Amino acid sequence: MNQFQYNKANEPHSAVKLVAKDPDAHFLAGGTNLIDLMKMGVVNPTKLVDINHLPFSKIEKLPHGLRIGALVSNSDVADSELVKAGFPLLSQAINAGASPQLRNMATVGGNLMQRTRCPYFFDTTLPCNKRKPGSGCGALEGINRMHAIFGASDQCIAVNPSDMNVAMRALNATVHVSGPKGARGIPIADFHRLPGEQPELDNTLKNGELITAVELPYSAFNKNLSYLKIRDRTSYAFALVSAAVALHLEGETIKEARLAMGGVAHKPWRLSAAEEFLKGKMVSEGNFRQAAQIAMKGAKAYQYNQFKLKLAPNTLIQSLRIASGIAAS
Ligand SMILES: Cc1cc2nc3c(=O)[nH]c(=O)nc-3n(C[C@H](O)[C@H](O)[C@H](O)COP(=O)(O)OP(=O)(O)OC[C@H]3O[C@@H](n4cnc5c(N)ncnc54)[C@H](O)[C@@H]3O)c2cc1C
Repeated sequence: MNQFQYNKANEPHSAVKLVAKDPDAHFLAGGTNLIDLMKMGVVNPTKLVDINHLPFSKIEKLPHGLRIGALVSNSDVADSELVKAGFPLLSQAINAGASPQLRNMATVGGNLMQRTRCPYFFDTTLPCNKRKPGSGCGALEGINRMHAIFGASDQCIAVNPSDMNVAMRALNATVHVSGPKGARGIPIADFHRLPGEQPELDNTLKNGELITAVELPYSAFNKNLSYLKIRDRTSYAFALVSAAVALHLEGETIKEARLAMGGVAHKPWRLSAAEEFLKGKMVSEGNFRQAAQIAMKGAKAYQYNQFKLKLAPNTLIQSLRIASGIAAS
């Protein structure tokens, strides 16, 4: 058994200090991801800093949006009347993930930070550049059914498994962090990384930085929306592909669209070119099909995930139909 030190942090400053001075220390929130990884020997912390007593458990209304504390449980976010009214896409996405029990334990900060579900990352007997830099990518020529079709590198083809992150990407969230050098806000687009040459880094947090909250700006994207997740089972399974769609409609005209996909890249994947195409267009099957074609530009599949090249555009088209009201959800 690996020995580790357990510390309970009573204020944010001491939590940051404890983690910043030890590269093998980890914050502990709901524990639903970290403890699994520890049991499997994928992550071997020398120190756990329990942050559950820090004051980050509120959802607050701001003049320009909502501030959701990093320790609010996934269930409380999804069930919040403020979230359901202003950001129903986020509620839908969270409820599409995991199980009620897990959502009760899982936190916003932990969900943002959850690691990939690539089987080569989870199995310490197999090569994985993310777990052990330089050991190779087992998935590249191995079982790569769940893997990326956008933004991968020859070092890593894993995907970010979160549902919540996909909605947050579509809703232009900002992740607020506090670290040894002070506080900063990171736009969600810059929070998660593509693997490049350093697949061991999932995100752009610096050593010791603690997520304190996420802010969501109010927008007109709270009426016509859909989070459609396609998976092997209808519950308790990670996305093969998911599509978050939010439309600002004026009659039948799309004033603006927000589109993001999950299960396709190392980070929640925003479909900016397709959004641009849909701006000012009419709600129509033809326009949705063209948008999906545009969204798929640059996609590249591997031996066992070729099916995603069809599944991804079809998921996006169906999610657009649901969001615009031309198909039942
Ligand atoms: C069986 C199973 C099925 C699942 N299915 C889905 C699914 O379908 N969709 C989905 O999206 N997710 C799914 N999940 C993942 C689940 O959502 C995550 O495990 C959960 O969100 C992690 O949150 P946590 O609070 O438990 O994090 P923890 O396990 O406590 O921490 C995870 C990581 O985040 C870091 N961390 C936590 N809080 C902070 C913070 N405030 N600042 C900085 N770092 C922090 C920790 O140090 C750790 O590295 C599933 C999990 C399981 C076990």
